[in-house]
Amino acid sequence: MSKRFARGGDVAAVDDVDLTIAAGEFFTLLGPSGCGKTTTLRMVAGFYFPTSGHIRFGGEDVTRRPPNKRDTGMVFQNYALFPHMSVAQNVSYGLKIRKVGRAESARRVEEALAQVHLGGYGTRRIDELSGGQQQRVALARALVIRPRTLLLDEPLSNLDAKLREETRAEIRRIQRDAGLTSIYVTHDQAEAMAMSDRIAVMESGKVRQVGSPQEIYHRPATTFVARFIGRSNVLSLPVLGATDTTVDVGLPGGGRATAKAPEGHGLTENDTALVSIRPEHVALARPGDKDTLPGQVTDVEFTGMSTNLTLDVAGTTVNVSAIDVPATVAVGDRLEVRLPADRMWVVRP
Ligand code: ATP
Repeated sequence: MSKRFARGGDVAAVDDVDLTIAAGEFFTLLGPSGCGKTTTLRMVAGFYFPTSGHIRFGGEDVTRRPPNKRDTGMVFQNYALFPHMSVAQNVSYGLKIRKVGRAESARRVEEALAQVHLGGYGTRRIDELSGGQQQRVALARALVIRPRTLLLDEPLSNLDAKLREETRAEIRRIQRDAGLTSIYVTHDQAEAMAMSDRIAVMESGKVRQVGSPQEIYHRPATTFVARFIGRSNVLSLPVLGATDTTVDVGLPGGGRATAKAPEGHGLTENDTALVSIRPEHVALARPGDKDTLPGQVTDVEFTGMSTNLTLDVAGTTVNVSAIDVPATVAVGDRLEVRLPADRMWVVRP
């Protein structure tokens, strides 16, 4: 499906996005600000109609159906709660619209509040709650209608780092327990990796890759995906030879390595390959290691868990992240590194 907005120069905010999400799956739309994540989610929710294309829920075409007839629960970034109303009044809102009776409504509100660990909070006012509690009320309000699909648009971005981590585990627990098909929007790659069964990485209205967190991390499709998911090196290296699934490349400063490559990579001798390798897979050489590359340290960053080094290797910048970096290593030092071939993966531009 695609979405164009007349306002803002008629560019496609969502450009030919084709996704199939399995029942019970936790699926994340991940990408930088403005890439079209929210617009995609809003089309699934029914707040926007696509300019072209279709949306199907279990084979049923819902493209033009209004939001309240789609069996989806939505959690917004800003929670969209009524601040002067009680928790219970906020949570019961969707039931009122659906004309659920009082007794049944009260029972379901209490059940939804218990699900998000806010049992007994029904009579509290929203503006008396912490940000984290408000976020749970928003989640309870989405859950109370017992939707088939839960849609979450950056629901954690107003919480501090610690609460964000706790809450993401909780959302996952609730989603698993209820077997809810979920679509989650975030620009935070760590959050996407930690929570998702599968991730769609979006850039400029397009989906660049869909895969499990492991696939996207270890076999990024493009330079953009490699760089967006964690720190990465994407090295431009000369192609010395190739098979269907490997590419032999010349290394900076001499030597060669056989990188893994996706089928259909199309590279042949004398082309330039873009090869991604994660900083934690670049090894500091040990005495006796073969095929090491000489580098000079241009930056050192101690993170506690590991040390990030930036090296100049024959004019190529190589980022290294290692736990065994001696505390004495400083800018200007010369170090030998190894690029393990089995960690090198060819990406598209
Ligand atoms: P963010 O993380 O900042 O919310 P996003 O990835 O969710 O970004 P969208 O909000 O989907 O991105 O926006 C995609 C593009 O569509 C942007 O260029 C945005 O300016 C444009 N856009 C979104 N909504 C509208 C609208 N109602 N009218 C005009 N342009 C819009």
